Amino acid sequence: MRPRQDCRNFPSVPRISETMNKTSRRQFLKVTGAAAGAAFAARNLRAWPATQQVSLAVVPPLSVFNYSQVELLDSLFRQQFDNNHNLYLHLNEDALLKPFRHRMGMPAPGPDMGGWYDDAEDFSTPDNFHAFIPGHSFGQYLSGLARAYAVTGHKPTQEKVHRLVRGFAQTVDKEGKFYVDYRLPAYTYDKTSCGLIDAHEFAADPDALDVHWRATESAMPHLPEKALSRAAQRARPHKEVAYTWDETYTLPENLFLAYQRSGNSRYRDLAVRFIEGDYFDPLAEGQNVLPGEHAYSHVNAFNSAMQAYLVLGDEKHLRAAKNGFRMVQEQSYATGGWGPDEAFVVPGTGGLDSSLNTTHASFETPCGVYGHFKITRYLLRVTRDSRYGDSMERILYNTIAGATPILADGTSFYYSDYNNTAKKVHHRDKWPCCSGTFPQLTADYGISSYYQSQDGIYINLFLPSRISWLQNNTKVTLTQNTQYPSANTSQMDFALARPETFTAYVRIPAWIGTGTRVSVNGKKVDSDVTPGKFLALQRTWKDGDRIELEFEMSMRLEAVDDQNPNNVALMRGPMALFAVDDIPSHLTRKHLLSVVRVAQSSDDYSAITEAGVLTLRPFASIMNENYRLYHRVEG
Ligand SMILES: [Zn+2]
Repeated sequence: MRPRQDCRNFPSVPRISETMNKTSRRQFLKVTGAAAGAAFAARNLRAWPATQQVSLAVVPPLSVFNYSQVELLDSLFRQQFDNNHNLYLHLNEDALLKPFRHRMGMPAPGPDMGGWYDDAEDFSTPDNFHAFIPGHSFGQYLSGLARAYAVTGHKPTQEKVHRLVRGFAQTVDKEGKFYVDYRLPAYTYDKTSCGLIDAHEFAADPDALDVHWRATESAMPHLPEKALSRAAQRARPHKEVAYTWDETYTLPENLFLAYQRSGNSRYRDLAVRFIEGDYFDPLAEGQNVLPGEHAYSHVNAFNSAMQAYLVLGDEKHLRAAKNGFRMVQEQSYATGGWGPDEAFVVPGTGGLDSSLNTTHASFETPCGVYGHFKITRYLLRVTRDSRYGDSMERILYNTIAGATPILADGTSFYYSDYNNTAKKVHHRDKWPCCSGTFPQLTADYGISSYYQSQDGIYINLFLPSRISWLQNNTKVTLTQNTQYPSANTSQMDFALARPETFTAYVRIPAWIGTGTRVSVNGKKVDSDVTPGKFLALQRTWKDGDRIELEFEMSMRLEAVDDQNPNNVALMRGPMALFAVDDIPSHLTRKHLLSVVRVAQSSDDYSAITEAGVLTLRPFASIMNENYRLYHRVEG
């Protein structure tokens, strides 16, 4: 969202929310688990979106399942989802509505949230980000809750969404008093827009679409005539620098979605107005216009290009998104993260390598992964190219999997640190942008794992999970059990009411070795298992059938960039391994590649070097210890 700031410790903090004790937390988990099953039985098995009002110019060959169709089973990712659901379910509603009420001159009871969220006068860049963007993430919390309801069917979550929409509706006027002298009107409107369309679509809120249109009318007088880059904003008169950080170029995605959900063509016209030609036209031609641009919001803008492609049908927007995403991948760290100091580097200059000495703000993690998941879902659905799935799992296991949980007072994980002397920290400010995207992202884990095609199912992520869908009117349930990527295997069991012919497409990662094995019911499959492709398993599937995957995950080294081939990270399959504690100063490729797992029950790896023992572990296993991703090797 802005240039880096971090703090170097994990503070102990008071809770603002209605605190849950351990018993009520257990009950909550039990209730949501049970509710998930009931909700699934009660709701339909069609692919999303269910209430589409308008036809798309382009219908992708793959569609996303309903949130209710995929259940995450016990794992780190299920814990992240439950933590976020629990935390946002118990946020104080008066506190959430306070900035909106306050700016409208209404009675505004309840505590202040703190951090970026408050409405106050003391914001002063770069030292004080208190009250940076009042109410900025309200829509994202609403969206996260609406999606969590869609996943679990947990009634109190739906009721909270409905109460928040009603409370918010009272603060919306036609003139947009809320946005008068507001630093980032497009930013906050965009998040509010997402929250309201999700409240409508995923939590069946009866008012949300009407409130959405009113909120749109309220924001429009405060937005420019078209999308403006930061440079264009700086060129116009502005009160102070924070007024030049608005993100008008991300608006079209949600405006196109509002058009699809409501059928109101005025949303489509607004979306077209905010498509940034100056950005997408050169990208579509393969010209890299990313360097220096704010990283997350411009990856998010690719999602606007994808919605433009789906709704309007102009291939130019697909080319812009594909090229732009490729350019981001070409300047990504081994973890899949990108954008040191929240900006893209100039290709061919060794900029990523330099960043390892100059910043701790290496990758804006919850926001970045949220945007990355969205664009890879769009591109995977349109192209069926498994490499987008490879990219998704790399960023999942190496970045967000290691994010510390959001605390009830808004203390958040923000940047992954790849500095040569790195440590995990909480962000200095409470309730930053990353506290908005984290609950949205964790609700999206399930729907990112599987996709539906006309002839079957695409299995994209190897997460412990269960999916049910209708295949030719037969209910099929697939249960995936796995410890991947800690283990190199996954097992998928089918349950069907009667045998059914379809294709199960399994993503085969590009990095696999020749020892990889795929079998069905214990028999190795005949077809070639090609790295970097989906493997098509077409057969008449019957109850009790089982797919087993065993990937050869050999160790390999990846250079930070082409200019620094000797500064390398150690990878095992999709997973980067970070050196921890005392790191020997002299390392060779041979040292790194010779690491062995300490024990089958441990995620630690170690190697003996002349200068001592080197220990490495995945990002998710790192706590407070110092760590390092890249090593300058000799030989
Ligand atoms: Zn963020």
